[in-house]
This record gives sequence, C-alpha cells and structure tokens, in this order.
Amino acid sequence: MPETQQVYAFSEGVEDRNQLGNKGANLVTMTRLGMPVPPGFVVSIDAYHRFTGSGELPVAQIDEALTALEAATGRKFGDGLSVSVRSSGPVSMPGMMDTVLNVADRDTLLHSIRDILGSWSSDRAVAYRDLNDIPHDLGTAAIVQAMVMGNSGENSGTGVLFTRDPNTGENELFGEYLANAQGEDIVSGTRTPEPLSGLRKQQPEVYAELHRHVKALEAYFRDMQDIEFTVEDGVLYILQTRSGKRTGQAAVRIAVEMMREGLIRRDEAVMNVSPDQVRTFLHSRIDRPERFTPVVTGLAAAPGAVSGRVVFDNTEARTQSQLGPIILVRPETIPDDIQGIAAAAGVFTARGGLSSHAAIVTRAMGKPCVCGAENADVDPVAGVLRVGDSEFHRGDVLTIDGSSGHVYAGELPLIAGEPTGEMEELLKVADGIRRLGVWANADTPEMVAQAQQFGAEGIGLLRTERQFSTPESLAAIRRFILSDTDSERADALDALRNLQRDDFIAIFRQLDGMSVIVRLLDIPLHEFIPQSMDTGDARSEHRREELAEINPMMGHRGVRLAISFPELYRMQVDAIQEAKAVVDARVSVMIPQVITRQEAIEIKSHINHTGLRIGVMIETVRACMRAGRLAETVDFFSFGTNDLTQAVFSFSREDAEKEFLTTYLDKQILEDNPFEVLDAKGVGRLMDTAVYWARRASPTIQIGVCGEHGGEPRSIAIFHAIGVNYVSCSPYRVPVARLAAAQATIQGDVGLLATTA
Ligand code: PEP
Ligand code: MG
Repeated sequence: MPETQQVYAFSEGVEDRNQLGNKGANLVTMTRLGMPVPPGFVVSIDAYHRFTGSGELPVAQIDEALTALEAATGRKFGDGLSVSVRSSGPVSMPGMMDTVLNVADRDTLLHSIRDILGSWSSDRAVAYRDLNDIPHDLGTAAIVQAMVMGNSGENSGTGVLFTRDPNTGENELFGEYLANAQGEDIVSGTRTPEPLSGLRKQQPEVYAELHRHVKALEAYFRDMQDIEFTVEDGVLYILQTRSGKRTGQAAVRIAVEMMREGLIRRDEAVMNVSPDQVRTFLHSRIDRPERFTPVVTGLAAAPGAVSGRVVFDNTEARTQSQLGPIILVRPETIPDDIQGIAAAAGVFTARGGLSSHAAIVTRAMGKPCVCGAENADVDPVAGVLRVGDSEFHRGDVLTIDGSSGHVYAGELPLIAGEPTGEMEELLKVADGIRRLGVWANADTPEMVAQAQQFGAEGIGLLRTERQFSTPESLAAIRRFILSDTDSERADALDALRNLQRDDFIAIFRQLDGMSVIVRLLDIPLHEFIPQSMDTGDARSEHRREELAEINPMMGHRGVRLAISFPELYRMQVDAIQEAKAVVDARVSVMIPQVITRQEAIEIKSHINHTGLRIGVMIETVRACMRAGRLAETVDFFSFGTNDLTQAVFSFSREDAEKEFLTTYLDKQILEDNPFEVLDAKGVGRLMDTAVYWARRASPTIQIGVCGEHGGEPRSIAIFHAIGVNYVSCSPYRVPVARLAAAQATIQGDVGLLATTA
C-alpha cells in the first residue's frame, strides 16, 4: 500500500490549514496567486501526529520533495541551495516556536524538522496556548523553504510590513527595512531597522513591485496583512503573509475603510473587529501632557497611557500585579516574557523596534507599550532602570504613554478615550444587523448622558438605592425604619418623596424622551442600619435589634420589604408621578426579588393607580420556574443575572470572588467566573426555560437582561440564542454590546444551549 501523502510542495496547490497550518496554507495560496515566493514544501500536521506517536518522519517523501526543490531552483542542496525550517500551526502563535536557518545538508535537515515539530511542546508555546485558550492537541506542520539571502550586499535586505498602519489603521504601508540583513535581525529587535521609506528611496522599482503585491494580498485575504519580505540582489521575494495584529483604533478604521472601498461586506466589517478591540478603543490618555516633562522617550509601540509600579521580571510581574497595576520594564522582551506581559498594565523596553515582540504582543492585548528607548539602560538583575541621572527601582511608579512614546516619573492624571467617526459608523452597521436591543444601566444624569453618547436605546435599570445615599435621605429612611408610630413614618416618607422627586426630575430632563425602567427599592435593611451604628436612643436600639438578620442578603429586602411596608413603594411611585408632572418621561417600574405572582398582584394593587408599566425582575430560581404565571401578571421581565447566578450556584456575590472562586478557576473546576461570563449550562438553561414558559403565556411580553453579564460578549451570544429582547449594561460597555449583539446575529444561533446538555 502506498504511504499516505504527508509532504506537500507549495506548487501543489493544496490549501488546507488543518494539514499545512496557517503559514503553509498561505504560502500555497501566494504561490498560486503568482507572488514571488521562494519555493519549498510542507511536512504536514498529519506527519506531526505520526511523528509524536512513532518518532518517525516521512523520510522518503522529504527526499523526493528535496529533489523537486533542486529542480525548481536550479541549484544543488548544499551547493548554492540552503533552506530554512519553520513551524506552521493552524492558529498564529507569533514567535512561540523555533526556526532553523541556513540548513545545507540532509542529517541537519531531518534534525531540524524534528526540532521544529518538537517545539510545539516547548514551555513558552504551552504557556502561550494556555493564555490564549488554544487546544494543545492541534499540532504543527514544518515548512522547508529555499533560503534567499537578504545579507548579500547593499542591494539586498529584509523587511516586515503591515499593509495598513497597525496603530492608527491609516491606509499606508507601515513597516521597517534593514539593508544587508536577514529577517531574524528585525524580529528579534537586536538591530533597530529604518522605516520602509528607506527602501523606497534606495530601490524605487522594488518598492513599487512590493506595493503592488502586498495590496493584491490584502484584497485577496480581505483583511490587513502582516508581510515578511526579502530582497536578494535587487530581486524581491515575499516570504510570509498573515492577518496583522492591530490596535482597537486600527481594527475599527481598517474595517470601516475596507468596507467603504468595497473590499469587504458590511457583515465582514463587523466580524473583523473584536469586542475587545472596541473595549480597548476607548484607551485612556494623559490629561494635558504638555504640563509634564518625560524622563525618556522611545517608540510609540502600542497606544494608551497607564501608570503602575515598576517590575523587572515575570515572577515579580505575576505577584506584584495582584496588588495593583504594574509596568514591566525589560531591556527587550523575548517570547518567554509572555506571562509578564499578560500580568502587566503596560510594557517598557529599552531596545527593539515597532515590530519587536513586545510591540506586537501588547498591541494585540490592548496594553500600552513604549519600546526602543535607546537612552534608557535596564538592568533586570540589579532591578534598576537608569535614564541619564535618574534611577528607578522596583516599586517606583512610572506613567507610560504608548501613543506618544513618552515615559514619565510618577502617576499622571489620565482620561478615558472617546469614540471616533469610524467607530460610530461601524456601530451603526452593527445596529442594522443585530436583533438584541442594547440599553444601559444608569442611576444619575451623568451616567444617562454617557449611555446616550455610547448609543444606548433606553435605560434598562435605574437603581434607586443610590438616592438613599445622601445624608438627608439616609437619615429619613432610617427614621422610617426605626420608628414604630404611623405619624413618624408618614413624616419620614414625606421627606423621602421630596428628595426622590427632585432626583427623578434631574434624570428625566437628561433622558430627553428615552425610556427608563426604575427599579423600586432593593436594599437589605442592614445596609441602612449597620450593626456598628449607635442610634443613641433606646427605642431605636430596641428596633434595630428586632430587625437584625443573620443573612440579610436573603432577608427582609426587595419586594419582601414592600409587602411589609407597602407605603415605601407607594412613596416611590408618587415621587415618579410628581417628577413626571414637571418633566414628562416614559417610565416603567420594576419589582425586585419576586418569587411568586401573588407578590406582584399585591404590589400592583398599591401602585396600579399610577398607570405606570409594571414589570418584575427575574432573579430568583422560583421566579424562573413560575415564569408563565408571572408573565400573565406583569408587562415585562428583566433578568437580574447577578442575583440569579448567586442563587443558582449558592455562591455569595459579595464574597465568592475574594475566596474560593480563584482556586476553582486555577484548578479549572470552573472555566470562567460565573459572575463575569454567564454560565450557559446552569443559569442559561434556567433562563431558557423561563423564557419558554413566559412566551407561552404571553407571546409578546418584553424580556430583558440587566445583570452585569449584559455587557459581556460571550454572555450576549447566549442571550441572543435564548431570544431575550434586549440587554442592559453599564454605559461604558454599550459599544461592546452593540458589536457583540451584531456578531451573535451573524454567527446565528450556534446551538449554544443545545450543546450544553
Ligand atoms: C441583578 O441581580 O442582576 C441586578 C441587576 O440587580 P442588582 O445587581 O442590583 O442586585
Ligand atoms: Mg439583583
């Protein structure tokens, strides 16, 4: 039986990423597109799996491919023909695996192929995959390719480029070129190259040819490309192309401009930007930086400004980052620094260019980075950064500005970023695609304004607890709770109604026609009357003792408090009505912590006279199970996924994250923090059941989500699949939610719930 094919020449045209890895498949594609690619072949991922099993390589097939390579180049192996050997995995892992250059004999070639395949399991590759959730069993191919010599004189050289600026997204080639050098000289950051304009001046024809080829690649792959090339004695070779890593700013601008240019469709533009890139888009910057003098300036490698304490190595980075933001300071970074970079808020290096490891990795992570600050001297062993006469030691605070390249001593005032025209255009496109509504949680006029700026369609949760945090309102609510006479209670409620009305007026003014859902009071009594409080009055003290609860979070709160004291919610709706008489507003009210429709019926009997739309929060397990009956009783639902998660897991929202949850995540007993990413298998299925029964009872009932998960992209995909009408999240996450909701629509109901059984 003939041996299964495990080795493929680039010219054979098999574009199979699962067999050839990304680089391998791209080389095949580039060869087919007529790009000047040095010839070569790929030892496939199938060969990797056989090799890890048996230790054997497909030697006969490699020999055959080598003979074909000699024919294609017209040179003999070892006599004019040498090859490079590189890894090629199905997902990009920049710099994580080995490369062997200038291989010119067969014992070394086979050795190198074994080394490259083996480097899939190196410590740093494993750490990178852990960090990026890449499965460990994918494996890698090895690429064997004829070497071209960038170091054979002044008409030779090597470069890396992005087809658009990876920092700003500007449609101009962005890259670096080093005359008379090999590719590794640039990527390692050991020699600082010059901008691409150098090549344009020295060899204009070569530059023009390069421009033509790379733009053709961009159009073919429908995305911005990161390309390596070499010039050997005036002849151009393209070595590699892949989608380029980029900042949030660049991702948005590139997607929008490529869409405008007609290179990609609207849905592709939406898919080409990740929710994380939208998040990092709103980078912070230094408030009026001209007021400050930098201690040193390097290259602006990844935008954004951040302050933090200095650390010099990975171990320190990991431990110190637990205590607050840190800046990783290194002479240059190497792939092993990936863990330190992951822990750091920002990175500063003395050496390396804009394509160095530190620059690429931080940009992808959305972290500020300044690199190539030649005047800085970093001694990681002694733990000192020297710039001129200044010295910085472990724990000293620096502010780095990766947008300007400036580095400052101490902590500087920072301000958050703002959306641009391109961001707004992209989000408008997303709005046209998505099915989920995106609302915001806001309690103050300022938060409402922020929500409006970010494109929220309504306010899905206005928590009224904040209205009780001023000294006057706190005193009034305490009077209400601690008194035991009707007249004292009525006085206290009068005061509260006036205070709440004024607050609502300010918020309604800002709403300017936007709808709002006001959540009626939901605060455990102990937060108003802390144990440590001394009322200085025997009657009140007695009442305080009566009210004390062992577990107040599950105690007399929310709707339960209102069942005992109906006048409390009546006061709140009266305050709303009085405010509406001053500023008209579209207001609904929502009852928290409900477990049965009897509660809803009873509360409605007290507030129905207002004519307000009345809904319930679905945040107890029982409410989910009784969703059908509840849906018959009220106008809308809003899932409180924070409390619902607490109830489903029996984990305290307040305490779990500082205690055992970290251990659970470290030991991978849980994959994600359920208070951050919605638990599809438990909470999600319960919600799905509730939505089913609610819609059966009341097909048009409006159902939203107002827990923190409403702004988290993976949770949004689940809410989309469950079929709720809208999510409501903090204003700052609204742009992320708009994009994530559109992506969920494009990807379709991917069976998220069906696969969780
Ligand atoms: C919730 O429980 O998800 C919710 C939105 O309400 P709160 O966070 O105020 O309890
Ligand atoms: Mg709640």
